[in-house]
Formats: sequence, structure tokens, C-alpha cells
Amino acid sequence: MTKALPTVRPGDHAIAVLPAGPAARNGTDIVPEVELRALDQLWFQVSGTVCNLRCQHCFISCSPENHSFWFMSRDQVAASLAESVRLGVKEYYFTGGEPFMNRDMLGILEDTLQIGPATVLTNATLLPQRVVDRLAELSRASRYTLELRVSIDGVTADMNDAIRGPGSFERAVAAVGRLAAAGFLPIITTMQSWPDHETDPMLQDFHQVLADVGYDRPRLKVLPPLRIGSEASRDRPYDEAEAVTVDMMAEYPSDLLLCSSARLVTSTGVWACPILLDYSSGRLADTLDEAVAVPARLAEQACYTCWVNGAICSNMPGFAMEQT
Ligand code: SF4
Ligand code: SF4
Repeated sequence: MTKALPTVRPGDHAIAVLPAGPAARNGTDIVPEVELRALDQLWFQVSGTVCNLRCQHCFISCSPENHSFWFMSRDQVAASLAESVRLGVKEYYFTGGEPFMNRDMLGILEDTLQIGPATVLTNATLLPQRVVDRLAELSRASRYTLELRVSIDGVTADMNDAIRGPGSFERAVAAVGRLAAAGFLPIITTMQSWPDHETDPMLQDFHQVLADVGYDRPRLKVLPPLRIGSEASRDRPYDEAEAVTVDMMAEYPSDLLLCSSARLVTSTGVWACPILLDYSSGRLADTLDEAVAVPARLAEQACYTCWVNGAICSNMPGFAMEQT
């Protein structure tokens, strides 16, 4: 016989509880869920899990050989964009893998910028002047903003390239210079791989590195590690106690979590968020229409990082962000 599932309602946020998922549950057998409050952000896994780099900390272990998720075509993205207008989406995000490995990327941005603001998360190693010029054209032609979020994981080539691979620092920093010269204010994201007390001097060093290529007032976002995928081996996996429980969500403002206001469209279905791409618990439905009605399950230990730090995926300040 199936038991009725209890529902807890702290404030306006309904949290249903379901039988345990694959993650450690701290001795409990239930998993918290977060309902979609509104579909404000739509994310696209536009280059699947294919990347020209193979970073040591990649939480979905992307690489040139990882074809678990394939590129999305311009037509596939356009179909979801059309659906998104009806669903009230306010902004669009493109991630991967490396989005600029997708040969349709510029066309996809052209389509997107007709209906809303767009952000591309990139390693900036595939941004020659020709591509930067086209991005600037697209930005000028749109009434909406085009943001570039560039990942750099250190203030020297030695520090960054130990994580992101040889030559990646030089190429990314040079691309930031080209973006700045073209009028963009890229958001520089970096995973914290240093002790807390080193954060201020690290941010100062970032300022200097970026100023040296003409980006004088950088937007810097420091991200916490997600201890899944490659990062679980590079540093450490989550401890058993690092998991979200129903009790932990009782007074928690769930609208801090990306899954309360976003969905991720891939070439093979719709997920709760980009973080849980490798987990079947993150897959919500085949279509966007269906996925908006399905709550996100906080079944994986990566959810603990969101719980501690809030909306780490958004352009807005989260874990630590400096905008000068
Ligand atoms: S962290 Fe980003 S750039 Fe590095 S392998 Fe993963 S998707 Fe590619
Ligand atoms: S990883 Fe974060 S955004 Fe994704 S379902 Fe878990 S809490 Fe929500």
C-alpha cells in the first residue's frame, strides 16, 4: 500500500516530501522539494557536455570526449524560446561545455536578443576578435543586454592553468581585454580554491591582472566549489553530513535557490538546474511545459552548496561578488 506523502508549508513555499533519492540523507528517508515560484530564467545546455577544455574542477566533467549531452541546434533553442515567451521568462542563460563550440551560438544569441536579455557562460578561449566584433554588433542591435560571464581560476597562469589546462589563462585574459575594448563588462567568475583569509589579496590581484588588459572596473564573482564530477576527485567529495534535509528547509527562503525560478533545457529534456545535469533526479520532464509543473528535488549533495550559499548560478551577488 502506498503511504500518503506529508507536505510542509513554511510561509508561501510548499515543500513536499518524497522517498529518498540517491544522496545521503542524514539518516532520514525523505527528500525536500522546491516548487517553481515563477519561470524567470531559462537556461540552455547549449553545447551539452562538450568542451575544448577538461578542467580539473568541472562539476559535470566536460571535455572534448564527453558526449553525454550533445549540442542544441538553433531550431531546438528557437522552439523553447517561443514557448518561453508564453511562460513569462525574463532572461536567458547559455552554458555547457563551452557555448562557443556550438557553431549556431551567434545565431542563437541573435534570436534570443529579440525577446530578452542573454548571458553566456564561457571559458573565453574561443573568442577571437571576429567573434567579439559580432557579439558587439548583436548587443548594439538589441534593446536587451548581452552579458558574458568568463571563468578564470587564478591570478597567474600557473594558478589558473593547473586547474583549467595549459595556455587557458593567457587566452582567457586576452579575450577579456578584447571584450572590454568592445564595450562589454564581463563578469569574471572564479572558484574559491584558497583559504578565506586570502580572498581580499586575491581580489586585488584579479583587479591588477584585468586592469593590465584594459578592464579597469571588473565585476568579480567568487564561487564555492561544487564537490561533484571532477571536483570530487580534485579536492574532496561531500561529507556524509553535507545534504539538505526537510528540517533544514523548514524556515529557509527557497526563492534563494535557482530551481525556484529557473529550468534548464537540454537536447534531451528539461532539468531543474545546470548543477544536477549528471543526475537522473535533476531531470524533470521531456518538455518545458511539463517541467514547470514539476518541483525540483533537492536529492543530491550539490544542493547543500546552494543551501549554504544561495543563488550561486545567477549574475547577481551570491557567495561573494565585488562590483567596483
Ligand atoms: S569548467 Fe567550464 S571550461 Fe572547464 S571543462 Fe567544465 S565546462 Fe569546460
Ligand atoms: S543544485 Fe541547487 S538549484 Fe539545483 S536543484 Fe539543488 S538546490 Fe536547486
